[in-house]
Amino acid sequence: MKLARAQAEVLKLHSPLAGWAAPLDEAPDPVFAGRMLGDGVAVDPTGQTLHAPCDGVVASLPASRHAVTLRADNGAEILMHVGLETVALGGEGFEAHVAEGQRVRRGDPLLSFDLDLLAGRARSLLTPVVLVNGESFEIVSRVTGREVAAGDALLEIRPLAATLQRVAHAEAVALREELVLDLPHGLHARPAARLAARAQGFRAELSLTAGARAADIRSAVALMTLGAGHGQTVTLSAAGDDAADALAALKALLREIAASERAAAPATAKPVEQPTAPRVEEPGALRGVTAAPGLAIGVAVRLADPEPVVTEASRGAEAESAALREALAKVAVQLAGGARSGHATGQDILAAHQAFLADPELRSRADAAIAGGASAGVAWREAVRATVAALRSLGDPRFAERADDLLDLERQVLFALSGEEAPRPQLPSGAVVIADELLPSQLLGLEAAGVAGFCTARGGATSHVAILAQAMGVPALAAMGEGLLKIPDGAAVILDADAGVLRVAPDRATFERAQGALAARAATREAERASAAEPGRLSDGTAVEVLANLGAVAEAGPAVGQGAEGCGLFRTEFLYLERQSPPTEDEQATAYQAVAEALEGRPLTIRTLDAGGDKPLAFAPAPHEANPALGLRGLRAGLRAPALLRTQLAAILRVEGPVRILLPMVNDLADVRAVRRLLDELAPGRRVELGVMVETPAAALLADQLAREADFLSLGTNDLTQYVLAMDREHPELAPGLDGLHPAVLRLVARVAEAAAAAGRPACVCGGLASDPLAAPLLVGLGVRSLSAAPAAIPGLKARLKALDLAACQAAARAALDLTSAEDVRALARERLAGHGAPS
Ligand code: PEP
Ligand code: MG
Repeated sequence: MKLARAQAEVLKLHSPLAGWAAPLDEAPDPVFAGRMLGDGVAVDPTGQTLHAPCDGVVASLPASRHAVTLRADNGAEILMHVGLETVALGGEGFEAHVAEGQRVRRGDPLLSFDLDLLAGRARSLLTPVVLVNGESFEIVSRVTGREVAAGDALLEIRPLAATLQRVAHAEAVALREELVLDLPHGLHARPAARLAARAQGFRAELSLTAGARAADIRSAVALMTLGAGHGQTVTLSAAGDDAADALAALKALLREIAASERAAAPATAKPVEQPTAPRVEEPGALRGVTAAPGLAIGVAVRLADPEPVVTEASRGAEAESAALREALAKVAVQLAGGARSGHATGQDILAAHQAFLADPELRSRADAAIAGGASAGVAWREAVRATVAALRSLGDPRFAERADDLLDLERQVLFALSGEEAPRPQLPSGAVVIADELLPSQLLGLEAAGVAGFCTARGGATSHVAILAQAMGVPALAAMGEGLLKIPDGAAVILDADAGVLRVAPDRATFERAQGALAARAATREAERASAAEPGRLSDGTAVEVLANLGAVAEAGPAVGQGAEGCGLFRTEFLYLERQSPPTEDEQATAYQAVAEALEGRPLTIRTLDAGGDKPLAFAPAPHEANPALGLRGLRAGLRAPALLRTQLAAILRVEGPVRILLPMVNDLADVRAVRRLLDELAPGRRVELGVMVETPAAALLADQLAREADFLSLGTNDLTQYVLAMDREHPELAPGLDGLHPAVLRLVARVAEAAAAAGRPACVCGGLASDPLAAPLLVGLGVRSLSAAPAAIPGLKARLKALDLAACQAAARAALDLTSAEDVRALARERLAGHGAPS
């Protein structure tokens, strides 16, 4: 109770600056004047140093150094924003004296600024000093309308009664867990939206703290505005009766998202940062940042982008609230329709938009503005813009780019409110769309209209528009500057997104070169696609089966279209993750049968559940493990609690068609025998093919024994590499060194292939190495005759194998075994096995 008493005290805030203290209403910016970031006062500065108004911790200091948020010891957060729209200065004229997370005493200098420079460049010098968490504290007195010196009394605040109760309760029962954020792009829109959606299912108070800032996990917007980046340590806190379950589920979800973002990374080309200057490097050429790779020849088409009409006058709070509710519902239906069709990336992004639409923080900001007399349109726009401003002030371009998603929703909701439809573009063939900026929903519309490529004056390489363009295979450049918008409509253009250049009205020679390059690419792709249906083989006729790795039912049909000769690994985790109860036998049997049917008689290899480790189950939270990768995962978890495994085996046994079972994380024969016993109990007298993943060093070293009783072996090179090199496959800093072409891994692959051949059993590789065009010929050279790869890699893989003979693969593989590093093996493969489709 000592804590609660201390927190109940009034906190005095001292002026951080010398100047004139004015009411916040005088700030010429609706975000501040409208109290969207909180209540407080504004100081028109005469001094050039911003001081701490009280003791506390620096909660945030963006890279642009134009604002500081201080977290006082009682939890109040005070934002001091030097001047208005000063984020645009990118730090020019500002010098920070503290760092985020640093503890400061009242009066300590936080940052200095060049008053003259700001006077010339900023929209206003007025410096708002606002209480950000006004839902927990109130201002009891303020000084305005007079001159203040730095250190003079300015504001007094005190916690609300409800806050004290909540704090006392939370302190008593809160569970906390610290973890390192392993999301490649940080806590951006999609993970934030998924966490917020997951949190809805629990009663506990849930928050996530990054540095000294905390966000309610039910608000995706609040989570995003934390600006938590990759590798940052964050704390999950939960208080309430289902706190432990909630914490376990959220942790599981974070891991799952991290795993899926990493898995998706190679499929989407890595955006290449281009030099920013000079923008014009040759007459008629504009440079930009590669948002999606590729080449297109076409005509420039300026995107007509009518603004929705916003009614400014309010018809009363009730009518405006109803109008906003209706418009939000209409957009929710449109998004749900879009999320049911199209490609997975588009679906993901639309799902994040759906979560934003229901975000409690956005809604309460809009509701407050309506209550304050704003129309629905104005309120929604202000709510969105305040969040956008907060995201942009983080100073991290990746979070600033996420503002696009909110602006997209702003536009869609405003169109819905206006009763008009957002325009559907009509494009001529070969249209290279030119726009100031594109929003995700606009790009989805352009895709439907057959866009050949696009360029934007603003935007960046990691925006959702860029990610979408990569998934669509549409070349795109971003951040091209204002010069882009001067290109006349209908001008002939060559968009070389690989080189980061847009050539306008090219001369004949340039045009012909681009046409030649385009034709050659198209011919290669076409040839690969045309022959993808042929069985995999080397140039000397040696058969190498090329199968697909699948992770969802819907992937099976398209994989066959890409040339898959069957499925070498069906990961069944998708049926189990992110749900509160395990899938039933019927549910599983239906899913497996659907895959078997899509494969039209080709072999289907179903791997039993590989949960645990980096894939925890929400419905069966596991106790904390110090080393989850070495803990209860894969088959070991299955055999300890066999009910789940039994149900899964029973479902697999119901599949009609050529199905076989694959066991994850096998160490030795005892594992295989235990599962065989279960199968015999479930289907006495029936013998279904049973294979083992070779992904532990033990299994690789005992491959001869395993091959005597298992029907086939399948090398899981992802885990095998992690365990052989003793490098966590989830460790962000170790990732560059985690290469399955390390000679230590290759020697084990050779041993397994030999053992399998000696026992007359097939050996497949289903880890990531099989999809790697440099690695695949080496695996063949080591004796592997079956590769299970990502479906998109199959046409290129088959073409590459067809250009090589067995003798060349074997000679290179033998040499690789004697090399000393993965880099050397890659160099050798490039040199010795360079042929059709060889990557450089
Ligand atoms: C592997 O470890 O190589 C493998 C294919 O399994 P997963 O990536 O699903 O762990
Ligand atoms: Mg594995």
